[in-house]
This record gives sequence, structure tokens and C-alpha cells, in this order.
Amino acid sequence: MAIATVNPTTGETLKTFEPLDEHEVEERIALAATEFATYRATDVKQRAAWMQSAASLLESEQEQVARLMTTEMGKTLVSARSEVAKCVKGMMYYAEHAEEFLADEPADGPAVGARRAYARYQPLGPVLAVMPWNFPLWQAIRFAAPALMAGNVGLLKHASNVPQTALYLGELFARAGFPDGCFQTLLIGSGQVEAVLRDHRVVAATLTGSEPAGRSVASIAGSEVKKTVLELGGSDPYVVMPSADLDAAVATAVTARVQNNGQSCIAAKRFIVHTDVYDDFTARFVARMEALRVGDPQEESTDVGPLATEQGRDDLEMLVADAVGRGAHVLCGGFIPDRPGWFYQPTVITDITPEMRIFMEEVFGPAASLYRVADIDEALALANVTDFGLGSNAWTTDEIEQERFVADLEAGAVFINGMVTSSPELPFGGVKNSGYGRELSAHGIREFCNIKTVWIG
Ligand code: NAP
Repeated sequence: MAIATVNPTTGETLKTFEPLDEHEVEERIALAATEFATYRATDVKQRAAWMQSAASLLESEQEQVARLMTTEMGKTLVSARSEVAKCVKGMMYYAEHAEEFLADEPADGPAVGARRAYARYQPLGPVLAVMPWNFPLWQAIRFAAPALMAGNVGLLKHASNVPQTALYLGELFARAGFPDGCFQTLLIGSGQVEAVLRDHRVVAATLTGSEPAGRSVASIAGSEVKKTVLELGGSDPYVVMPSADLDAAVATAVTARVQNNGQSCIAAKRFIVHTDVYDDFTARFVARMEALRVGDPQEESTDVGPLATEQGRDDLEMLVADAVGRGAHVLCGGFIPDRPGWFYQPTVITDITPEMRIFMEEVFGPAASLYRVADIDEALALANVTDFGLGSNAWTTDEIEQERFVADLEAGAVFINGMVTSSPELPFGGVKNSGYGRELSAHGIREFCNIKTVWIG
């Protein structure tokens, strides 16, 4: 994919960029390695002060950054502003809590013949972050904030369709006072990732993106014995049981599906509804999906903007067409609106069977799959049927059912009577083919640390 800003609302190419050549990549890796040697020893309080300055800068530039993201990948301006605010919060969270998360962890010294024993969290070195376009700021910040606070340095390979956001991020930390080389953007294509990953000075990698990209990065890193964290796709179930507050379940279902124009890894994608409330849920859900305002994401009143890329829109169209061709029914939407840009009408589709691609694949756009089930066992079996295991939602006020969902949903997160979201305070990550490792919270900052055992006799 060319490195370029192409406005998905119009299809117009606004700016193109040359990828860095081998020599330029080498310079940046060398700078990262040199900087790490001193940065690793900086006081955590100093890092926190720089992180707070970066958060303040970002906050003061909220409108400009939000408009940039909307232009590059089509998210609504309203949601882009919230994304900036979330990043500010995440940066402040790690500025405030890193010292506590990285404090020496005492162990039982006498039990192992020591006067004193403990675990110390130490940084690893330059970490490569391969990031997706869907939350262009938040995905990168949720790597950068804990990594920098832990004393690591970062090299960001962002998605090729958000180069200006990537460059902004590369400058933000330096402008806030972090020493040169602590966080650098590498404008490179995916074909250049392998060489960076194999460089002996790059010690680990994190990738957020699709399963094929994750497999590739993990296998290269594996052959070099380098740690990876993978945050991959999801096909989150959204189960509605008879005791649920249906008004809340329906309203949240719409938001959970169409957030970020339907392009979120933790968007609810499969709506699994108990037969007792299926008809009522369906009528209300379809009415709300039909009422969504599709349009220019820069307009405050728009609910759903375009998909980020033409390819993404075409993939979605093909998934729906495949299902319809095999007998599925479209209850609303199911077409490309007649306008420029890469829009797709919010869609609800039902009568889905296992031979349809949509049954197992991730739907990355505003199309909801709807299923009717007879009981909780059928709901759980269907919820767990895919190879993904990222988030999961269940709506029930019955405490026994709640416990059953908590115990048996195969996912990195379960949200009962609410929508799966990420927050700095909670660990985030998946099981099965949704990846491994955790971001955010204390777990996230420790992923790229050497947990050094210390034994003092
Ligand atoms: P993608 O095509 O995998 O791209 C993600 C990043 O990986 C981009 O920087 C891309 O670079 C790079 N890349 C692609 N193929 C690569 C390869 N073979 N080797 C190294 N790097 C490679 O994914 P996407 O379409 O942008 O994003 C959508 C996917 O991300 C969805 O599956 C979504 O569920 C997932 N996602 C997961 C999470 C999570 O936290 N679990 C969060 C957000 C999104 P180029 O742009 O240059 O190709």
C-alpha cells in the first residue's frame, strides 16, 4: 500500500510520502539504541513530567489532531475528539501510576535462603510497534505511554494510510521534552518490517492489526527469539437474554456495532438473541440502524462516516453478497449509497448459516449479524464458535446466567450489561486467534520489562 493520505469521504489523494530508505531506517535504529543506553536510567519522576507535558500538548491540539484523523481515515469528528481525550487520560494514567507498577516486588527471601529477595522491572530496549489505522492515535498511545514510562524507547511503524497522524506522534514526545530518539516514526511499508525486526538492536515488537500481519511478525520475531504482543481481530458476540433491560440493550447494540464506522476490533459483530425477546429486539434494533445518519464525518450530526479504504468497503460488500447468495436475509441496508467516497449503509443481516463466510470471518464495517437462540447453552456455543476471542458482551439481570457467561465465554474480556471498551485501568487483549499478551493497566507496562529476580544472601 502506498504511504499516502487519501480522504475516504471523497476518494481524493491529498498527500503522498516516500518511504524511508535503508540508510534512513538505519539512522533511526542507531539513534534509538544510543538513546536507550541513557534513557533507561532516567528517573521515573522525570519521565512522568515529560509524559504530562506530552498529554498537555496533545490536549491543547485536540481539534487539529481530531480533524487530521477524520481526514485520513474517516472517523466522525465527534469520535475523533473523544479519541484524543482518551489518549490524554491514558498518558496521565501512566504518568501517575508507572512508579507504583514498576516498584520492586518483594518475595519471601528466607524461604529461598536469602536475606532479601525481590523482582525488579527493568526496560528491555528499543521496541517496534506496528499499528493499525482504525484508532490512529489511541492504538499508538496505548503502546507508547507505558513503554516510555517503563524506560523503553519506541519505533512506530504506523499503517500506510495515516502517515500524517504517524508523523504528528513522532514529534509529540520530542516537543514535550523526551530526549531525541525516545520515540520515532518510521514511514515504511509493511515489506520493510522484517529487516527492522531482525535488527539485533530492536529487542521486541507489538502488533495491532489483522491475523495474517500478526502471524508474520510473530514468526519472524520467534525465529529471532524476541518477545511479541499481538492484538488482532475480533468477532465479538453480543448476547441478549430475556431478563435484559431491552431498551438499554438495543441502544447499546447500535453504538457497539457502528462505533468508528463499524471498524473496531472490539465492536459487537454477532448479535445472539434469546427467542423470547428476539422479535422485539430485532424490530427495535433495525429501526435504530435505519435511522442512523450516514454522511460527511466532519459534520457534527453524522453518526456513520465512510470506511477507511476502498478495499475495506469492497471486502464488506463481498461478505454481505456471499451471505445473501447463500440464503441470508437483509433486514436493512445491504447496499452502497449513491455518493462519492467509501460509504456502506448500516446493515442488519439474518438467517446466517455456517457455510457463509460471514459466520466465521470478522465483519469490519457497519453490518450486524443477527442470530436467534433457544437457551443459554446455544448462545454460548454460538458465541464461542469463531476462532476469535477478543471481547464479549452479555445482557442479563439473572446472576446465575451472569456467572455462566463470565466463566464460559472464550474471550479476553466479558462485559455484562454494557459494551466492551478499552480503558487505561483495565487489561486489554485476546485469546485464541485474537492474539496474546495484554496492554493497559499494570499488566500492559510489564509486558516489555525484564522481570529480574534479585537474591541477596
Ligand atoms: P493490517 O492490514 O494487519 O495492518 C495493521 C498494521 O500492520 C499496519 O501498520 C500494516 O502496514 C502492517 N502490516 C500489514 N501486513 C503486515 C505484514 N505482513 N508484516 C508486517 N506488518 C504488516 O490491519 P488493518 O486492516 O489496518 O486493521 C484492521 C485489523 O486490526 C482488524 O482485524 C482489527 O480487528 C484489528 N485490530 C485489533 C485491535 C486489538 O486491539 N486487538 C485493535 C484495532 C484493530 P501497512 O498499512 O503498511 O500495510
